[in-house]
Amino acid sequence: MAITADRALQLLTRVMDPEIPALSIVDLGMVDSIKVDESGVHVDLIPTFMGCPALDVIRQRVQDALEDAPAVVRFVHTKPWTTQMVSARGRAALTQWGIAPPTDSPAGVRCPLCGSPNTRRTSAFGSGLCRASFYCHDCAQPFEQMKSI
Ligand SMILES: [Zn+2]
Repeated sequence: MAITADRALQLLTRVMDPEIPALSIVDLGMVDSIKVDESGVHVDLIPTFMGCPALDVIRQRVQDALEDAPAVVRFVHTKPWTTQMVSARGRAALTQWGIAPPTDSPAGVRCPLCGSPNTRRTSAFGSGLCRASFYCHDCAQPFEQMKSI
């Protein structure tokens, strides 16, 4: 078996979030550690929001992505996942997908469609618990934001 931890991490950049197919679990900040020993690849993942995305689906996709290497995928709870762990590339992918990235900025949430800050939150819950619904006054479109936690 010739896989290295670096190679495994590279393969995991192809594992996309089941709900947001533009966003990899690496950019989501879920990968806590990757270790390789004689028994295989050990991947520790930090679960994101409760129930979203689907953890069983992700576990299977990680195993598939690592190809022939025997993989042990664990979800660890040693530290909480927060939206601060979403990478810059992940935030760009969210915006392109039409979802406003999480922000703590006092300037508020910018519309992912037109970039306007002239938005209003219409519901604390969007299509999932992890999302909030917004409305953009400039392009008159509803959109969702990944909630900041
Ligand atoms: Zn807009």
